[in-house]
Amino acid sequence: MELTIIGSGTGIPSKTRAYPCVLVKIRDKHLIFDTGPGSLRQLLFAGVTYLDIDHIYYSHFHLDHSFDLASILFTMRYNEPPRTEPLSVTGPIGLKAFYEGLVSVFGDVIKPKDFNLHLEEIGKGELRYDDWKVVIEPLQHTTQSIGFRIESYDKRTLAYSGDTDYCNGILRLAKRVHTLILECSFPDDRKIEGHLTPQLCAKIADESQCNRLILTHLYPICDRTIKNNGDLLKKLRNIYRGEIVFAEDLAGFII
Ligand SMILES: [Zn+2]
Ligand SMILES: [Zn+2]
Repeated sequence: MELTIIGSGTGIPSKTRAYPCVLVKIRDKHLIFDTGPGSLRQLLFAGVTYLDIDHIYYSHFHLDHSFDLASILFTMRYNEPPRTEPLSVTGPIGLKAFYEGLVSVFGDVIKPKDFNLHLEEIGKGELRYDDWKVVIEPLQHTTQSIGFRIESYDKRTLAYSGDTDYCNGILRLAKRVHTLILECSFPDDRKIEGHLTPQLCAKIADESQCNRLILTHLYPICDRTIKNNGDLLKKLRNIYRGEIVFAEDLAGFII
């Protein structure tokens, strides 16, 4: 399983961090988790086009995570060569209403023409495919928010939080995974409900006994704290002994 952080930012524009998007490659399949504004273009820098995407998973519908679905569907309809392979989109309860909402705004131009679009809503459970399995748990952010645990055919494991606060759902998803990707929105002294901070991320990583922690979804205020607080990494290492990585756009990992 290969992981690329496509966008490590948030809803606040940043010169160094694109909007949230994660790419997971399992064999020849391309799985995308969240597509904030500009993700389709940002994916190009990782060599992935509208023809390559097999499956998109959404953690919730905040536009910093979901906005590019409309652009992706538009591109798949109006491009040469046309998209012909089916596209699966999985998201929280409300995905179908979200899609219908996009269609009512943009019209036929985002409706698939030469390929099948498969929309699947799930609030909790397990989805099995030939080469991987995805476990879904509700997380504490919006009422619909979900997170994902991906298990590949060769028993490698990855968890992705989307946006969340500290909750049991993320602990269940993260249990002993090889790599845990957590949102890390705000500094510890500026905690906001529904989001994590560096020390809370380290606590989750420690309690779940994962091997590697990747912190992403970094607001500029959190970025500044990371840069200006030389002791932060030391503090985090006192809480969690595994590998800690602050995500950067297009950083790649072998899971
Ligand atoms: Zn977000
Ligand atoms: Zn959100």
